[in-house]
This record gives sequence, C-alpha cells and structure tokens, in this order.
Amino acid sequence: MRRIVVLLLASLLLPFGFADVAQGKQTVVRGPGQAQYDVELTSDATARTWTGRQRIAFVNTTGKPLAEIYLRLWGNAWDGCTAPVKVSKFEGGTPGTLTVNCTALKVTLTKKLAPGKRSAIAFDLAMTAPERLERFGRAGAHSFFGNALPVLAVHDWAGWHLEPDLNLGESYYTLAADFAVRLRHPAAVQIPATGVTSTSGEGKGKTVTTTSIAKQVRDFAFAAGPFKQSVVTSPGGVKVRTWWTGTVTAAAVVDARTKGVAAIDDFSRRFGQYPYGEVDLVLNDKWVSFSGMEYPGYVLLIAPPSEEGPVVHELAHQWWYGIVGNNEYADPWLDEAFATYASYLHWGDAQPDCWPGQLDVRITNDTGFWKKYGPGWSQYVYTYGACMLADLQRYIGTPAMERLMKGYAKSHWYGVSTPGDLKSAAEAATPKDLAPFWTSHQMY
Ligand SMILES: [Zn+2]
Repeated sequence: MRRIVVLLLASLLLPFGFADVAQGKQTVVRGPGQAQYDVELTSDATARTWTGRQRIAFVNTTGKPLAEIYLRLWGNAWDGCTAPVKVSKFEGGTPGTLTVNCTALKVTLTKKLAPGKRSAIAFDLAMTAPERLERFGRAGAHSFFGNALPVLAVHDWAGWHLEPDLNLGESYYTLAADFAVRLRHPAAVQIPATGVTSTSGEGKGKTVTTTSIAKQVRDFAFAAGPFKQSVVTSPGGVKVRTWWTGTVTAAAVVDARTKGVAAIDDFSRRFGQYPYGEVDLVLNDKWVSFSGMEYPGYVLLIAPPSEEGPVVHELAHQWWYGIVGNNEYADPWLDEAFATYASYLHWGDAQPDCWPGQLDVRITNDTGFWKKYGPGWSQYVYTYGACMLADLQRYIGTPAMERLMKGYAKSHWYGVSTPGDLKSAAEAATPKDLAPFWTSHQMY
C-alpha cells in the first residue's frame, strides 16, 4: 500500500535488534496450515451487508498439539468494537471474547488436535461495509470488503501472532490457503474479487451467484456495486479485468489497464510466472487516505493516478507480500521495499544516488516503531528500503541480483520470508562478502 504522507525526517536512534536474522536460520514451524476456506454469503439489496456461513478446514502444522486457534477479524479494528464483522453459531470449537481491539478471537477446539491432523471450524458470518472511504468501506453505491473476511492467525516460534492494526500500512500475517467463495446477490451488482471468478444464473431472475476459486492466497477481498468492467488477456496469458466506478474517466481506465498488463507480464519474467491466472484492477476516484492497496489477485487503485500511478507498485505486491509472504507488522519494509524496488526495475530506473548514507533509524523497524516515529516513516520503509536493494544490485552485479530475485521468490513461493531469509538468499547468490554491505546499510 502507498499511503499519502508528508515527509518529515526526525532524529531518533533506538536500539532495535534484527531478531529475524537468527530466527531465519532455524527450522521454522508455522501453522495452522493447508487451510481451505469455504464461504457462502447472501447480500442485501444494496450489497452492503452480507450474511451466511464460513467454514475453515486446516492442518495442525505447528509441530505441537493444538488446543485452540485464533481468528483475525481485521474489519473490526476501527470501530471501537461496534464490530461490523460478526461471527456466531460456532461448530468445531468454542469462541472466547474478542480481544486486540476486537480483531482477535480465540476459538478453543472441541478436541485437541495432534500435529499433522486436520480439523475444521464453521460459523455464521455477518458483515456490513462501514460508511468510510476505505478498503473495508463504502464509496457511493459501491461497497469494498478488504480485510473483512475472518482469517486464521499464525502460530510460529514466537507463539500466536496477534499484532494490532495501528492504522499504518498493514499488520497482516497469514499463510497461503485455498478459498472457495460463493456470493448470492442482485443481478445488477458486479463483483470484482480475488481468484478466478464467474457468475451464474444471469438472465434467469433477479438474484445471481458469483463464485470465486482462489488457490494459495493469503487473503480474499471483493467489492460489490454497479461497476463497469473490461477484460483483456495480457501477451503473457494473464486475464486482466479492470473495474471502475461511474465517475472514473475512460482515460484513467486505459492508463491503469495498459500499465497493469505490462507490469504483470514484466514481473512474471523477472520473479516467476504469475500463478493465479486472473487479476482484478479496481478503480475508484474517491479514495483519500491511500492511492492503492494490494490483495491477492485484486488491487484497489485511485483514478486518475498521479505520475506513474499505483498500479505497478500494487501488482509488484502480488509477488512481494502475496506469493512470497511476510509478517507485515514485524517487517513492513520487506514487502514495501521489494514492491518499490520492483517498480524501479520495471521503469528502468537505476536510482544511482538514492541511498542517503548513515540513517538516523534503520529501515528494518516494525510497524509499532513507525507508528511512534510518525510522518516520514514511508521514506524509510519504501524508498530507502528500495535504495538498499538498488545498491545491492550495484554491489553484486545485475546478473547476480536477477538470480537472487528469481531464486528468493522460488524458494519462498507460497511461503513466508524473514529478513534473515533474504540475507541468506543474497549471500547464496554471490561469492562476494556481503558483511561490509550489510554494515554500510545498517542491515543488522
Ligand atoms: Zn505497497
């Protein structure tokens, strides 16, 4: 995501460590894994409120017996627990009370789950898009359900990850999973969504069903409303669906689609073929707090864009956050620096004088740190992070850097990476001693 921020450099030097370096070298067990989400929802007449049932099957991949799991209800983060996302009538477990500003729900499993075994929970789900211009919100007659569908929290060496949503960038951390989502809605409503999407029942009545199947994605987002759309297939074989709200101009649609088609194929060549077959570009001219937001196979974009526009950056996130995952709260730079660096690669921008020298704070801080740091955080996380990667390319040479990007993506494909994993991948891609580079770029 690219927040609109004012650049303000502050002088702070805090002794934050680089704990993931050590963790990245040990065997990491994360879970629950191999999850299958089955969701059936029906909308009201305006497609703002959806009700139905969600089932999540999963395998205990944590390596130890599992007595409970946690759901993340990120959609409740900003409403003081008035909870626009409600869950009830559980099967397979007993819910506790909502915690972490109503974004976390412990579910004690009916039966303790042994390592390697599969279980499932199911619950009723009701969600209403709040009246705000946000990724989970409303813009006129259009409703947006980003980070609204409940997802499994991750357990790893540090225990359960229940980081808060600080309304700064993203705090999300999920494992790749399969989704099958069926949405019943009025025929006049269009549904851009994660996954390969099709609508049935058209012409037979006033209600139709949109089905979306998504394999190995970290989240599922959709929107609902009277969108207009166009569909093209990129030369590389990706179906690019562009959707827009009524007041978006034709020129903005063409701009996003043209840049999107070029970017998805370029990144496929650089980092490995885009695996999801279809991607949705969802344009709206009303966003105020952000210009773009990434979800698997689905990106929100401001229209018209300024300068290069957010579409290239958000599509780069399909690889960096999406295919190669990370804990976005702990390591926000890991996906944002890579998405920004990928944009530099796409535009042929070498960024020769980008790294500013000794920084007052390291780029590797977590979201909690940046929240206290204030405006100007994105200069470090996005720009200086990408400058570090551009410098790394100069240090090890372009062929080694190309090997690094492809190899790093391949070895963490549908997995999770840490800063330690990145350093290990870089060291494996070159015979050069990288210790001086890490020191000069405060990567420790
Ligand atoms: Zn971003």
